[in-house]
Amino acid sequence: MRASWQERFAETSDVLKSSQHQQTVVRVLDLEIGGSQFITMAGPCSVETEQQILSIAHHVRAQGAQVLRGGAFKPRSSPYAFQGLGLEGLKLLAKARSETGLAIVTEVMSEDDVSLVAEYADILQIGSRSMENFTLIDAAARSGRPLLLKRGMMATVDDLLRSAQIALTAGNANVILCERGIRTFDSTLRNTFDPAAIALLKHISHLPVIADPSHACGHRELVPALARIGVAAGADGMIVEVHPQPEQAWSDGEQSLTFAEFDEMMTMLKPYIRHRAAAVGNLLETVG
Ligand code: PEP
Ligand code: MN
Repeated sequence: MRASWQERFAETSDVLKSSQHQQTVVRVLDLEIGGSQFITMAGPCSVETEQQILSIAHHVRAQGAQVLRGGAFKPRSSPYAFQGLGLEGLKLLAKARSETGLAIVTEVMSEDDVSLVAEYADILQIGSRSMENFTLIDAAARSGRPLLLKRGMMATVDDLLRSAQIALTAGNANVILCERGIRTFDSTLRNTFDPAAIALLKHISHLPVIADPSHACGHRELVPALARIGVAAGADGMIVEVHPQPEQAWSDGEQSLTFAEFDEMMTMLKPYIRHRAAAVGNLLETVG
């Protein structure tokens, strides 16, 4: 990395690559996030019922996902929309883990809930709307669980790195960065996907970086293309929404893939992931 990048991001030096730190590998159960394997996190936007979450967990696992996503505490745009099942949702996620062996990622929205969510989840998601809630990030980091830190919808790359730096300062280096689309002048899609941010983050930071093609566009028919772009940009993994009946979903149905669409996407991604593995392998050889 050139000195100019070091200067540009000097305020967040702990998250930058250095001679001591080339790549952070976040270990969750038997997974290595940020290692040579591309990691797929998949599941519904919200945990709805036992039958829903268990059927999704079994399905995505059979198709190669390693982590189950599902919101139990939901940051909804409307105060009248479904806000999540709370503790009941966390228990259902834990049941899905014990049935499938999938690791669990779920959002924590409040400092008060950190210890509860950390009891059930393997990775704590800090949502887009919470990316600048520094006391929440500090408390979540101190739980000792790895964090999935989503880029705020109006946050710059500097802002995202500053939030990550807070977790590292609190003693937790297990931070996974996530590009999930930002707000721009173009409101055609839900958000504007920014794969250049993935390329930049991979270039300057030692933290793993993943793509969220679902929130990045808001339309299920575009999700597979954005997932391919994420892999090509160098992401270490992706987080994607899947639902057996998207039109019945309690949140984010328009962007949730059906089981058949998820299966097709996973098949289509294979050559891209193989190419990425070859590129990562070459890099390791060059470095080593
Ligand atoms: C989610 O993952 O369902 C979610 C609410 O994400 P974001 O914070 O990126 O909007
Ligand atoms: Mn969602």
